[in-house]
Amino acid sequence: MAPLNKNNSAVKRIMQEARELANDPSPEYSAAPLEDDIFEWHCTLRGPAGTEFEGGLYHFRILLPAEYPFRPPSLMMLTPSGRFETDTKICISFTSYHEELWQPAWGVRTAIIGLQGFFPLKGKAAVGVGAIEFPTAERKRLAALSRSWTCPHCCERNDVLLPDPVSDTAPMERPAPPLSIADIPNPTPLPPVSAPTLVERVPAPAQQAPVSRTRPLLLLDTAICVILVLACSIVVRRVAF
Ligand SMILES: [Zn+2]
Repeated sequence: MAPLNKNNSAVKRIMQEARELANDPSPEYSAAPLEDDIFEWHCTLRGPAGTEFEGGLYHFRILLPAEYPFRPPSLMMLTPSGRFETDTKICISFTSYHEELWQPAWGVRTAIIGLQGFFPLKGKAAVGVGAIEFPTAERKRLAALSRSWTCPHCCERNDVLLPDPVSDTAPMERPAPPLSIADIPNPTPLPPVSAPTLVERVPAPAQQAPVSRTRPLLLLDTAICVILVLACSIVVRRVAF
């Protein structure tokens, strides 16, 4: 493939959109151009919540024309969904099937969000080239299978390209909600005191320091010893003389 001409207006515009999508990613889809062809993007899109596609991850190609953004992109579903045929250009108002409806101010993001909005359509609104209408049970089965579906072109797996938000997969890691007054149980009331308890009638022991008791005893012992020594010395003198 020839090197990219970065002065080409389509290339400049596509690179700008790729940067914008990388800097401001969405939890609903993940899209980027192929490494070797900036005019072909691969996108994984979350099935719309509240529909039979909820939980499903759908991988599709976005093919940008050389005249982009003055001509619209084409979309081609790759993951089986029961809603769009695979490997077939999807006919929706902003794709190459309806060039007159495309506006150059729109971009890849517009196309992705538009495709997500086309998933739940039913009846006449859902009919068109590339559209199919499988029973709900089959769509749910395909939605479950789609998560581990791997693209044969870019070799990426859907649930790796677009992991579930952390809050959905690890509810235990969520911080505990702050307590409100309603959450705090009422304290159990204490039984009424009818009579003073035994403990209350017993006087508290005197808090005297042990040093104050032992000091007079020591002084008394010393005095007795001195008297005995004096008495002994008197007796010894009288016996001696
Ligand atoms: Zn791919």
